[in-house]
Amino acid sequence: MPKIRLEPVRGMRDIIPPDSNEILWLENSFAEVARRYGYEYVILPVVESFKVFEVKSGPEIRRSMYVFEDKAGRVVCLRPELTAIAARVYLRKLQTSPKPVKIFYIGKAFRYEEPQRGRYREFIQAGVEYIGEESIYADAELILLIRDYLKYIGLNEYSVKLGNMAIYRSLFNAWGIQEDVQDEIIHYIDKKELGKAVDIVSKHIANGAEIIEGLSKCVGSDPDELLKCAERSGLPKELINTHVSRLSKLLSIIRELGVKGAYADLGFARGLAYYTGIIFEVIPKGMSLSIGGGGRYDTLISTYGGPKTPATGFALGIDRIHLALKNVGKVFRDEVVKIALIPLIMNYRVIDEVASRLRGEGAVVNVLLRSRLSTAISIASSKGYDYIAIIGEKEVREGVVTIKNLRSRRQRSISIKKLTLGELP
Ligand code: AMP
Repeated sequence: MPKIRLEPVRGMRDIIPPDSNEILWLENSFAEVARRYGYEYVILPVVESFKVFEVKSGPEIRRSMYVFEDKAGRVVCLRPELTAIAARVYLRKLQTSPKPVKIFYIGKAFRYEEPQRGRYREFIQAGVEYIGEESIYADAELILLIRDYLKYIGLNEYSVKLGNMAIYRSLFNAWGIQEDVQDEIIHYIDKKELGKAVDIVSKHIANGAEIIEGLSKCVGSDPDELLKCAERSGLPKELINTHVSRLSKLLSIIRELGVKGAYADLGFARGLAYYTGIIFEVIPKGMSLSIGGGGRYDTLISTYGGPKTPATGFALGIDRIHLALKNVGKVFRDEVVKIALIPLIMNYRVIDEVASRLRGEGAVVNVLLRSRLSTAISIASSKGYDYIAIIGEKEVREGVVTIKNLRSRRQRSISIKKLTLGELP
C-alpha cells in the first residue's frame, strides 16, 4: 500500500467536530442575520483571474497570493478575498438590477502567509457588499449588521476602529504624489511603520511629516474631540470639513446606536488599495488580531470598466471569530433534540417510520446499526444525545417504540402512530 503523509499542506487545516459544527453554526447565523438586513446570497468562484486582484488589491495582498498558470496558460489565483470578485460579478450580472444591490457571501479565501494562531493560509470569510449607495448610512448599516451578528452569536466585547482613507488620498493627491507611491505610503501606515511613511512623504512636501504624525495622534471615541485634534494636526480645513467630519458623524451615529466599542483613529489605514473612504476593523477584547474589516471602495467598479458606482462592504473572519468565542469560554449548545435510534431487529420500514416522524419535527435521529444495546447507549451518551429509542421484536409486534431520556433516566413506550416530540419522556 502506498503511504501518504497524513498532515495537511502547511497552513491548511482539517477541521472536525465539534469545531466544524461550531463553524457551521457561525456561518448559518451570519446568513440568517445578513438576510434579515435584506442582503442576498451569492456564490463566487474560488479560482479567479489574477488580473481581478492585480489592478487594485495593493502590494500586501499580491505578495501573499497563490498564483499559478492553468493548463491553458491562463494566469489564475486562489481568491485572497471576495470583494474584488463581487465587484466583477456586479458589473457582469447585477448592473441592471435596481440599486442598491445588497449581496452576501460565505466562503474560503487563501493567502500565502506565515501560519500562526488565528492566521492560516486557508480561512473562511463571511461578508457583505452594499453597492450603489454613497450615503454614510450605508456604512453605518454595515456596522449595525456586525453589531447584531456578534450579539446573535454571543461575542459581546469588542471594539470597532474607524478611519477614513479619503483623508490620506486627498492629501496625497493635493501634494501631487503618484498613486503607486500613495499605495506604498498607505502600506507603511497600515503596518504601523510610520517612520518609513514619513520618509517618503517628506520628499514630496515640507510639512507633510508633521501632518501625518499629527493625524496618528488623533484616536478616540469623542466625535467633537476628533475634529479638534484634526485641526491641531494642521490638516487643511477643507479636508476636515469633508472627510473628518464624515467620520465624526458616523462615529456619533453608531455610538448612539449601541456600538459601545466604537472609536476613530485618524492614523488608521488599510492595506487593500481599493479603499477610498470610511474603513473599519473589528477587534475582540483580549485579542490582537482583527475578526473583521471593511470599508468604502467607490472607484473599484469604475476601475474595472464600469460606471462610477459607490460601494461599501466588509468581511468577517469566521475562523478568528470561532477562536475569539472559545477564548471567552462560549459554550456552543445544540438547540435540537438528539435521538439515537437503536434497532435490535432490522425492520427497516418501522425504523424509517419512527425516524421520519421525529426528523419531521426537526430532531436529529441517528440510527446506530449493529450496535449492542450497551455499546449504543454509551456512544449516545458520549455524543451528547438526549434520548435513545429502541425498536426490538416486542416493539414491532405492539406498534410502539421504547424511548429513554438519558438525562432524567425516565423511559416510556409510545405508540408509533402517535409519536411526536411532545410525547417523549
Ligand atoms: P482583511 O480584508 O485582510 O482585513 O480580512 C478580513 C478578515 O478576514 C480579517 O479581519 C480576519 O478576520 C480574516 N482573515 C484575514 N486573513 C486571515 C488569515 N490569514 N487567517 C485567518 N483569518 C484571516
